[in-house]
Amino acid sequence: MSKYLLFTPGPVNVAENVREAICQQDICHREVDFDRLLQSIENKLLKLFGLQDTADYRAVVITGSGTAANETILSSVVGDKNILILSNGEFGDRLHSISKIQNKNTFLLEFGWGELLDLGKIENYLKKHAIDIIAMVHHETSSGMLNSLEEVGTISKAYGAMFIVDCVSSAGAEVIDMEKCHIAFCSSSSSKAIGSYSGLSFVVGKTEEFKKLKYLPVKSTYLNLYKFYDFIKTYSQTPNTPAVHLFYALEQTLINILSEGVTNRYADLRHKANLLRQGMLDIGLKFLIDQKDMCSVLTTVQIPLHIDVSILREKLREKSIIIYEGKGCFKNKVFQVGNIGELSLDNIQFFLKSLGEILRNFDQVDIINVISANDHQALFSYANENSENTSLVSKN
Ligand SMILES: *Cc1c(COP(=O)(O)O)cnc(C)c1O
Repeated sequence: MSKYLLFTPGPVNVAENVREAICQQDICHREVDFDRLLQSIENKLLKLFGLQDTADYRAVVITGSGTAANETILSSVVGDKNILILSNGEFGDRLHSISKIQNKNTFLLEFGWGELLDLGKIENYLKKHAIDIIAMVHHETSSGMLNSLEEVGTISKAYGAMFIVDCVSSAGAEVIDMEKCHIAFCSSSSSKAIGSYSGLSFVVGKTEEFKKLKYLPVKSTYLNLYKFYDFIKTYSQTPNTPAVHLFYALEQTLINILSEGVTNRYADLRHKANLLRQGMLDIGLKFLIDQKDMCSVLTTVQIPLHIDVSILREKLREKSIIIYEGKGCFKNKVFQVGNIGELSLDNIQFFLKSLGEILRNFDQVDIINVISANDHQALFSYANENSENTSLVSKN
């Protein structure tokens, strides 16, 4: 039994058999044992993405958290071409920061944090500028908004641009149809909706696009996507020493997902999110964005007026419950409640009961005057006025 209930967007409470998997025997990563383990993980990742019966896609696994996979893609697929980053939050901005370092022809199209991507604006931009690659985040974890892959993918195709997507917090919870959405490469990590320990990430991509990377300039030795592809294809291995025991854990998590059934799992997460949301609405809480725009892994809640979120988190922590703070311009304006990992329906009821009690009994002395954070309009205008400064105040 783990000490904390992690109601966060990641890390997660892992399944008992994942905890056991990490203790498996020591093997050498240059032996056939590891070749088999990596092959098994790749096959399972492709199954999770509904790509099992085709040689048109491959998956590579990287030792490093989700950012490593994003940096691997951004340093390996752009060359000297023009890349446009679409951003409506902290993680879109991070894609931009990474790309700026790697690629001199990096452009940014910004939307308000917590606002939908405006397809008209994207098309207008593409009419006026020659863009070769478009990158965006699927689930913008900072606001909880699920951005539409299909619409942006269709526009990318129409303008002849390659489409790459950060699926770090959506893979394992939402359908990602790479073919239908014209996605060339997408990234994700082991420790969010996939449900394993942190420390591994992966890239799923089109085989023909992986092949073309050979002819692009190398911008990173360790995070070189072509090298990962070449090694898995040629040797069923990784270029450098992998965190072998995390691979055992990842394999077990993928076995768990596939034996539950991918669609059953998505439905289960959606059900848990709905229970949490209804419960929080019943307590009188309000959400940052519309429920229909939310991903099924996370709910972003406005902090009620006069509640100090650090005290709220402390009181929940006393009950072994961990929630997440807002990031960037949402800091001290929202808190976030995840529903991934091994959280049972009982755990969810316990969370709702505890949250309700704590909010009802919030001590007068704990009450501080925060800006009118529960005013939806004020929150958005505050957020967007300050979005230029977000990278300065954002923290993990
Ligand atoms: C968590 C996350 C990342 C990666 O963060 P790491 O700290 O490297 O794991 C990237 N993109 C999104 C959308 C995320 O939610």
